[in-house]
Amino acid sequence: TAEGRPQEDLLARRDASFATVQEHYYGNPPRIERGWRHHMLSTDGRAYLDMVNNVTPLGHAHPRVERAVARQLRRLNTNSRFHYASVVEFSERLAALLPAPLDTVFLVNSGSEAVDLAIRLAIGATGRHDVVALREAYHGWTYASDAVSTSIADNPNALASRPDWVHTVDSPNPYRGNHRGEAATAYATEAVRTVEDLAATGRAPGAFISESFYGNAGAVALPDGYLAQVYAAVRRHGGLTIADEIQVGYGRLGSWFWGFEQQGVTPDIVTVAKAIGNGHPLGAVITSRAVAERYRDQGYFFSSTGGSPVSSIAGLTVLDTLRDEDLQGNAVRVGAHLKARLEELAERHPLIGAVHGAGLYLGVELVRDHATLEPAPEETTELCDRMLDLGVIVQPTGDHQNVLKIKPPLCIDRTAADFFTATLDRALTELR
Ligand code: PMP
Repeated sequence: TAEGRPQEDLLARRDASFATVQEHYYGNPPRIERGWRHHMLSTDGRAYLDMVNNVTPLGHAHPRVERAVARQLRRLNTNSRFHYASVVEFSERLAALLPAPLDTVFLVNSGSEAVDLAIRLAIGATGRHDVVALREAYHGWTYASDAVSTSIADNPNALASRPDWVHTVDSPNPYRGNHRGEAATAYATEAVRTVEDLAATGRAPGAFISESFYGNAGAVALPDGYLAQVYAAVRRHGGLTIADEIQVGYGRLGSWFWGFEQQGVTPDIVTVAKAIGNGHPLGAVITSRAVAERYRDQGYFFSSTGGSPVSSIAGLTVLDTLRDEDLQGNAVRVGAHLKARLEELAERHPLIGAVHGAGLYLGVELVRDHATLEPAPEETTELCDRMLDLGVIVQPTGDHQNVLKIKPPLCIDRTAADFFTATLDRALTELR
């Protein structure tokens, strides 16, 4: 076993057995074998505040999940061709959380699978193969989800290497990018023009896909009205709209359970994963009965372990616990406190260009110059390394890797939020 052997040995064995393309946190990572609530514990006895785990919204090692999953494992775990209650109940609960006509659920195991299926549903329902996606986006690694992933942080060659059925529109970032502040409404106008130009050449898109709250760009809210305008244009030309809620879903934004609510729209297809199993592999695509039915004659769908008894129980337990522990409310309260503290820091540390986000999905964008917004990626990496030394796990995001992405377990409290800001304050002061 790995127990009792030196850390370097384990890292060397990791590098020998993993494909090098697989990304990892930190050059010299602590070995983490346990977690509790919003903390991770290393084998050398340190506790780290976990500011990155949107995969575990309830917190690490939640006893309610542990008990429910263990009980189900003792009873039955098998594939979803069988008939059992938990898969029905979880699907009903998911659908009930969404507005009409989103009432039909597909259960899978990951975000990439969910996005892949969403794209195929749109192609099936519209009979069209062109898809419009945002630049600076990540949607997954499977063939179709990778095709619409445009972030140059993940793949420097991303924009040049998209298949010809993928059409990208400008990253609608109101802070940095071609249109800023008030002028950011221009992004929607341009995206609408892209859709219309495609339609004029006989290639009206079958789907438009985007995160509904721009997670990959660093927790940036899309410009007001952006999705409403773009969705309308896509629909006018017969296409479907996909909201990727995998990163921001669900409850994390505090004021909104779903990111698309912030934009005042209802998508045709919604994808969720990551948080919905509290770390257990689980993803879902929710759409209307009409769209789902069109897929029947276009393609095949079955996922052996998507919606397995254990996965469904994990999904139900997450929903129950989010409700019973009022974690969306905690995202509102602790999120507002944390954002206010970070904004105070921004007044004292010129490296902070902006504090983005809502609830417990925040981004601290680091820039060398407030006028040019020159990104500060090296400083961001240095800060993350120093924060690790000081007991905080936080990571960069965005095309420039200059935004600290803040998405802790939703059970985080004010004490931990204050520890985070105090530690960031110290690390920023040392950097100067
Ligand atoms: N969509 C978004 C917005 C994501 O952030 C991710 C994961 N980072 C995915 C899709 C893919 O999810 P998974 O890693 O579960 O395949």
